[in-house]
Amino acid sequence: MWVVSMSRWVMHIDMDAFYASVEQYRVNPELCGLPVCVGHDPKEGRGRGVVRAASYEARDYGIRSGMPVAEAYRLCPDAVFVRGDFSNYIEASDEIMGVLEEFADDERVRRASIDEAYIDVSRRVVGCGGPEPLAKEIQQTIRDQTKLPCSIGVASNMAVAKIATGINKPLGITLVPQDSVLIAEFLAPLDVRVVNGIGRVTARRLGKHGITTLGQIQRLPVTDLYPIMGIKGAKWLRNRAYGIDTRPLKRSGPRRRKSISKDRTFMEDIDSSSITSLYGTLDDICKRIWKKLQAKTLRFRTVTVKIRYSDFTTVQRSKTLKVGTDERIVLCRTALELYKENRLPDHRLRLIGVKVSNLLPKQGQLSLSDFF
Ligand SMILES: [Mg+2]
Repeated sequence: MWVVSMSRWVMHIDMDAFYASVEQYRVNPELCGLPVCVGHDPKEGRGRGVVRAASYEARDYGIRSGMPVAEAYRLCPDAVFVRGDFSNYIEASDEIMGVLEEFADDERVRRASIDEAYIDVSRRVVGCGGPEPLAKEIQQTIRDQTKLPCSIGVASNMAVAKIATGINKPLGITLVPQDSVLIAEFLAPLDVRVVNGIGRVTARRLGKHGITTLGQIQRLPVTDLYPIMGIKGAKWLRNRAYGIDTRPLKRSGPRRRKSISKDRTFMEDIDSSSITSLYGTLDDICKRIWKKLQAKTLRFRTVTVKIRYSDFTTVQRSKTLKVGTDERIVLCRTALELYKENRLPDHRLRLIGVKVSNLLPKQGQLSLSDFF
């Protein structure tokens, strides 16, 4: 019997200029091809605040995220500044993660941030012609389904995959072979700052000792790093310099709920024109949904009402609000309106249901809560 030992393949997917791309490709296609900055109005160079994200066209002018908007304006007065709506970014992010679940072994997706994730594809690559064609397919599927560009790094573990992604952006695919010698060779010329966890402070400290590349760390006796990084930090960094990362790819917390719904079947079919007898039921259903939203600290944008008549014909009607809310009165009022607009007066009602979807975390629940 043949025993095929399976190689481990991890992909790191990073969206290209995410916020700016959402503005260009999803919110306002007229912005495609233009230098776009997400951030405060620069008020002709007198505005305050920083650029949150810059499209690649804006980057061509030297604009970078984190730069004061006034400076960005000076670099490119024709740049389009948009304030952005965070709920659009969350919606896009959810769709992306949904696509990745389709590709990951056992739906194992680790969401690293709003626009970044790791997936394990060790099994999936078998029968896909290898990791590179699979990466291309994932990149294309994300593009087709969400309209957004991304770059992908492929390697035998998360740390190397993440470094690989950064090598070639936008729309890049970078594959690092499994062989440990080749991994070390790939990493050697790179700046220490590519390692996730090496910030500006540590990089400066290493720089003072003349260490700037991962190759230098590979060649250094690990004990030489002790005074700079501490024993634990030194061992960690040496592993990273060689591309060693034994962390298992754990699936990130339970996937965000897509919807919450409740319905009620009446003991006896009721007259659909009698709003009063229905109002109490609808109000009660909405209250229960609202409690669940509170418990999960979620807001909703879409309300759907399901109406089933005594002959079992069922209709569903939805309304999407301009902004997400968690207000019970809005939920209840919208549900009632939908019902009034869509009921058939001469029919008897068997069941009424309400669903909220397009769920968003409440502001402040994200690590990016300081976004605007
Ligand atoms: Mg990104």
